[in-house]
Formats: sequence, structure tokens, C-alpha cells
Amino acid sequence: MGRSNCGKSSLLNKLWSFKVAFVSSTPGRTSLLNFYAVNEKYRIVDSPGYGFAKVADTKIGFQAIREYLNERDNLRGAVLIMDVRRSWGDEEEVLKDYFNAQGISWVLVLNKIDKLNRSALQKQIKTIGEEAEAPELRAVSTLKGDGTQDLEKYIYSHFVKGKKR
Ligand code: GDP
Repeated sequence: MGRSNCGKSSLLNKLWSFKVAFVSSTPGRTSLLNFYAVNEKYRIVDSPGYGFAKVADTKIGFQAIREYLNERDNLRGAVLIMDVRRSWGDEEEVLKDYFNAQGISWVLVLNKIDKLNRSALQKQIKTIGEEAEAPELRAVSTLKGDGTQDLEKYIYSHFVKGKKR
């Protein structure tokens, strides 16, 4: 999950070579829950780019996400992706509350770390990290590949491997 333009589609394509996610040139193009099978046991669900603050109680899109998070028995973990240059916002807070209320394991991914110099990056990681209070935070560059393999390993070992259906 993540805001439009955070690099979600790019990251999906980088981590899983099934070339599923359409890399959009226009922000906000992804609008449905899309299910992709990595293998028999391992599925990735690509949820819409948001806008949650705007859509919270009005749009069907958010209702679908809410239902999915509330009711999907075999949901094992959530990956919340942000552009590292952005701030933790209302949309992220809404999602975090859902994850925590539903007991959904989650990881915060700060993408596009290649866009910041070292000190700016450290500052952003610290600031966002303090606000997010995420159980796990990973900083990656989908473009350069920094941290992406480790992220996939984390997702596999924490959300997939050994978990009951
Ligand atoms: P989505 O809307 O979240 O699915 O984002 P996209 O995957 O379409 O990416 C939005 C833009 O960010 C594209 O131009 C990508 O090439 C770019 N992008 C994605 N990841 C990175 C990254 O790690 N570093 C940089 N510099 N650009 C990235």
C-alpha cells in the first residue's frame, strides 16, 4: 500500500519478477485491489494509491480496502510504502490504526533513498520513524536496488514462511 507515486509498482516489479504491476506515468492510476500469485502459498495484493484523507468516508475504493483489511482471513502482513522525502500524514496514520486495531503485522518501507544525501536521509528516517512507530522500518532504493533484496527476505520470513493458512 502507498500513496500514488511512492514507487509501489516499481517495487513490486523489482521484488517479484512476474512483471505484474503497471508502472504508471500518471499518479493515481492504480485503482483496484489486484492479487498476484508469487507461488501457491504466497500472494501479493496491490492496493490503490491513495488519497485516504480525501476518500475516507466517501469513496468505494476505501471501503474495499477497509473490508479487505478487516475481513481477509489469510492476510498475513502489510507493506506500507512511502517516498522517503514525504512526511508521515493522515493517510498513513489511518492505515497504521487499521493495522494495529486488526493485529496486522506491517512494515514501513521508505523508498527513493537515492534522492537524498546521507544526512538528509538520516534525518527523514528518524523523523518518520518516530511518528510512524512502525514495528519494522526499511529504507530502500528501488531504482538502485539498495535494500530491496533484504526487504523481500524480510517479507518472506515474517509474513509468509511458516505461517499457517
Ligand atoms: P506508484 O504510483 O507508487 O506505483 O509509483 P511508480 O512505481 O509508478 O513510480 C513513480 C515514479 O517514481 C516513477 O517515475 C519511478 O521510476 C520512480 N521511482 C520509483 N522508485 C524509485 C526510487 O527508488 N528512486 C527514484 N529516484 N525513483 C523511483
